[in-house]
Amino acid sequence: MTNTSTNSDSNLRIIPLGGLGEIGRNMMLIEYGDDIIVIDVGLMFPEEEMLGVDLVIPDFTYLRENQQKLRAVFLTHGHEDHVGALPYFMREFHAPIYSTRLTDGLIRVKLNEHRLLQAAETHVVKPGESIQAGVFEVEFFTVAHSIPDACGLIIRTPLGPLVHTGDFKLDHTPVMDQHTDLIRLAQVGAEGCLVLMADSTYAEMEGYTPSEQLVGDALRTIIVNAKGRVIVATFASLISRVQLVLDGAVATGRKVFVTGRSMIDNVAMARQLGYLNAPDGVLVGVEEMRNTPAAKLVIVTTGSQGEPTSALTRMANGDHRHITIVEGDTVVLSSSPVPGNEQAVYRNVDNLFRLGAEVLYNRIANIHVRGHASREELKIIQGLVQPEYFVPIHGEYRHLVVHAKLAESVGVPAGQAFVMTDGDVLEIDDETAWLADRVPASYVYIDGLGIGDVDQHILRDRAHLSTDGVVVVIVTVDKQTGRLERPAEVLARGFVDADEGGELLERSKEIVSRSLAGSVHYAEFSDVNTRIRDAVSKFLYDETRRRPMVLTVTVEV
Ligand SMILES: [Zn+2]
Ligand SMILES: [Zn+2]
Repeated sequence: MTNTSTNSDSNLRIIPLGGLGEIGRNMMLIEYGDDIIVIDVGLMFPEEEMLGVDLVIPDFTYLRENQQKLRAVFLTHGHEDHVGALPYFMREFHAPIYSTRLTDGLIRVKLNEHRLLQAAETHVVKPGESIQAGVFEVEFFTVAHSIPDACGLIIRTPLGPLVHTGDFKLDHTPVMDQHTDLIRLAQVGAEGCLVLMADSTYAEMEGYTPSEQLVGDALRTIIVNAKGRVIVATFASLISRVQLVLDGAVATGRKVFVTGRSMIDNVAMARQLGYLNAPDGVLVGVEEMRNTPAAKLVIVTTGSQGEPTSALTRMANGDHRHITIVEGDTVVLSSSPVPGNEQAVYRNVDNLFRLGAEVLYNRIANIHVRGHASREELKIIQGLVQPEYFVPIHGEYRHLVVHAKLAESVGVPAGQAFVMTDGDVLEIDDETAWLADRVPASYVYIDGLGIGDVDQHILRDRAHLSTDGVVVVIVTVDKQTGRLERPAEVLARGFVDADEGGELLERSKEIVSRSLAGSVHYAEFSDVNTRIRDAVSKFLYDETRRRPMVLTVTVEV
């Protein structure tokens, strides 16, 4: 760990910018000499305390400072936590983007929405194919996951091959018949793998992850038993889940109506590319849906995460254009709430129950399985690849620690499993590996159209406002003397009721006058503001034991 080699040009550097220490916004850099490649550019949905934030993306600072080294972007699969920040990335960086066919289709839909498709250089890669990017040679290999065309990467470097699993599990009966390519992994293992980076999301789970086919069976049972319409909500990117719904509908002689912008776009794209099988006549438009008896209809929709403008949320609020929830409808939420979305999800569930629907969600039905490997599967990968060094990826800190321990328990030499978090730099030379450095890796918040203009301070202010409210003091002072021209005005929002708190606010006005009494001239008006703020804050705290945010507005006359 004391290696301070300065000849870092012949060292390999592994730099996670996201996804190590949290679930989401996955992004990894691999650097050697003058070359950097990027693996995944994902987003994260905000946690509850990130008030008003729409999305969280990785910090691109290090890449910005090393732009000339950027050679290519490789995407493992089409889930949002792996490709969702691409539109923000593309506004700043230009590099060819490589992914498999369905992933490419999904990002093209997304880039088109953001009007970035024209400028993008995207390439479709087949599993087994190798791409040269600077000094690196990158090969895609198939993995089983909850989306077709998911891949891991074998990255050949001057120091030896790396394996990045992407998200994976070892499903023996996968929906689209896509297995994790254990043979290829064993070959790399035999060759001598330098570093294995493997999915840690479910490193705490004992045993094996159930097959996606279980969900298919559960969905079919629900559709068979439903007396009326069945409305299934899931992620627009969970193409294999949509296929299971289509299969269930076909098997029970029902028609399928698709709603929600991203779901409609993704279904159209996936059908065009051959990733969704729907016999002719199964998918119906609005008119035909209206004329189809309830017992003969399945609706597939977005909104499983309670997204405010999604089709399911509109249905739950009774303002969807074409679909009114009635008694006899069965609504299935076929995905677990992403942490942070629970409230919105369960609000929808409540509203759907109120409208008379039967609602099946993850707590009461077997309608979602994990897309990630459990412990026994992780051990199998370790056994096949037998890496020299191990880096657990994709997970919160405890998942990474648990996964590192698992790796050591099955043969990774002690001290050669590195628990890294976002921004850590693992440096490797031909003898050893060590945590060498840190690069910026803070959360970059997207709020409305702003990228990164909301920071920790703003979030702290928002939290402050949301718990204690705000008091605004408006004072008019004489420019020359600094004296109050007229009594201050004091307004409150979210702090005290105007009626009951009227007296309190009235008394704060006197506090304002008193805080400025005795002074004749102020060189700095910020001084006026500080005096008022301190006096009013103290007064309100003494009276109420609360600390509203006190803002002062000074008008000079
Ligand atoms: Zn995934
Ligand atoms: Zn993921």
